[in-house]
Amino acid sequence: MAFSQSSQSSPQSTPFRKRILTGDRPTGKLHLGHYVGSLANRVRLQDEYETYILIADVQALTDNFETPEMLRANIREVVLDYLAVGLDPQKCAFVIQSLVPEIADLTIFYLNLVSVARLQRNPTVKDEMHQKGYGDNVTAGFLCYPISQVADITAFGAHLVPVGEDQRPMIEQTQEIVDKFNRLYGEDGAEGVLVRPEGMYAEFGRLPGTDGAAKMSKSVGNVINLADDEKTITQKVMAMYTDPNRVTGREPGNVADNPVFTYHDAFNGDKARVAELKEMYARGGVDAEGKLLLGDVKIKRELAAALNAFLEPIRARRREYSLDEDFVWDVVRAGTLRGRARAGEVMESVRGAMKIDYFR
Ligand code: ATP
Ligand code: MG
Repeated sequence: MAFSQSSQSSPQSTPFRKRILTGDRPTGKLHLGHYVGSLANRVRLQDEYETYILIADVQALTDNFETPEMLRANIREVVLDYLAVGLDPQKCAFVIQSLVPEIADLTIFYLNLVSVARLQRNPTVKDEMHQKGYGDNVTAGFLCYPISQVADITAFGAHLVPVGEDQRPMIEQTQEIVDKFNRLYGEDGAEGVLVRPEGMYAEFGRLPGTDGAAKMSKSVGNVINLADDEKTITQKVMAMYTDPNRVTGREPGNVADNPVFTYHDAFNGDKARVAELKEMYARGGVDAEGKLLLGDVKIKRELAAALNAFLEPIRARRREYSLDEDFVWDVVRAGTLRGRARAGEVMESVRGAMKIDYFR
């Protein structure tokens, strides 16, 4: 899709609203973890905040640089998911990261403000490196992606970043660099050049995977996608990990570390029924006729029904939006232009603060 600046629209301005920056890697369709971790907050806050949603294709390349051709299709899927959950492209700018060169510029400046040792201590990056088996062969690009996230957040002057728990170390890293930048380059006593952002973490800040792993992740493949059809949902739920020690259902089960119950808590609107299921599961046992009180199959069937009820309106909207081939790209082009205009303003004040605005 061609990208030109000719139809640049003016940045959203008066009256002043605080800004949100958040985003996703276009590495696949979005899943239930995205919904509870970040999307739900974005939808809730889009009226109140000026919202920028970054489609982080540059970051996706850090561990997918051999297959850049997958980005185009995945960008489309991610945007369809945004529209399907109710993000309004008039209120939120959907911005393609690689088309905002200011982010790359800021990344280079910030790399001087962090030590390699500090990058190597990032717990999320450590987990991901372990999961991908990188060891000492990790690329500089992957190790440094948190710094490019600092650039993502600050390029838009974001005040708030609604993200999942795995992003907490990135927010801390951002605050450190912002403080350092403002200390180094800011004028004494003046308000910081860079806005110091806060993270916003949802109640289900880290939704577990269907395999019981601590995090549902696109690249692990333990996901339930927002776009999954009814049959796929049922199949995935029936194959889910539950308490491995509850063999027959007669013995008491573990509710706490059981993703089936975490999903019930997150997506089943009938809270009384969920409480009842949990109580029976934790107790285990059989009724007067020796029949099992509550087997895994029953809990899972009820979960599949709850998920399908939750997802049906989302799927319906997704189907509708996917009929118009051009719509997604039109929306992304307009959002990217708005994003670039905003990042350009920030970049100007950064260059000014660093005294490298030579021709001013
Ligand atoms: P990948 O495996 O490619 O990294 P991902 O599933 O981790 O994909 P991202 O695009 O990296 O998804 O994350 C986008 C946003 O969604 C981030 O704010 C992240 O914290 C949030 N998120 C992702 N997975 C979960 C999850 N399981 N629970 C809560 N939030 C999540
Ligand atoms: Mg991720």
